[in-house]
Amino acid sequence: MRYGILSDIHSNLEALERVLRFFKELGVDEYYCLGDIVGYGANPKECLQIIRSLGVTCVAGNHDWAVAGKLNPDNFHPDALEGVYWTRNQLSDEEINCLRGLSLVHKTRDAEFVHAMLSKPERFQYMAYSSEAVETFSLMARPLCFIGHTHVPQIICMRNGKAQSIKGPGINCDPGQKYILNVGSVGQPRDGNPMAACGIYDTDSRYFEAHRVAYDIAIAQEKILRAGLPASLAERLSLGR
Ligand code: ZN
Repeated sequence: MRYGILSDIHSNLEALERVLRFFKELGVDEYYCLGDIVGYGANPKECLQIIRSLGVTCVAGNHDWAVAGKLNPDNFHPDALEGVYWTRNQLSDEEINCLRGLSLVHKTRDAEFVHAMLSKPERFQYMAYSSEAVETFSLMARPLCFIGHTHVPQIICMRNGKAQSIKGPGINCDPGQKYILNVGSVGQPRDGNPMAACGIYDTDSRYFEAHRVAYDIAIAQEKILRAGLPASLAERLSLGR
């Protein structure tokens, strides 16, 4: 079985469609979304409809809950906050309810899925350094935990009692070890690489690989500007910041 894992789509329809096509080409069987379907970009309705129509298992992101009125977005960056208010006006009550109903953590036989961290997942704290992964490792009831939120792909492993970052896009997951796998962001990467990020995990071979997919950034940028959203949200897409 192949899991296709995507996170932080952020209403970027061009990036989402391209990643889903890539998953199809690589024979993905099951789709998992780690939250932040909406916010920042110009196509929240379309992205939400696609995720729902494909039956993607999805957990809640801070932007999803902020748009749904379930999380106070006062500490968001002003541009992000503008995106939250704009997005609320694009969605129906039923769609807002769908975002409100997203749960914080999902578990399969092999893995756990959460937007930010397993410790106090409702606080959506950033796991920017491997040292911040220790609490999540201690709470993991499965060997793997897939996360997003930072928009930076990362593989962290617990070795000799220490959380360590592992280089490279892919890893053979040792069944005796625990791994935290950050798949990065589909719709707004922030690691300096503007290509859409996603991950594929094969449950038979236990191989995980982080992938990058090129998409039409110019169209996504044009839509953001046409929608009257902050220009910085368009600019950052081509910088991957
Ligand atoms: Zn995000």
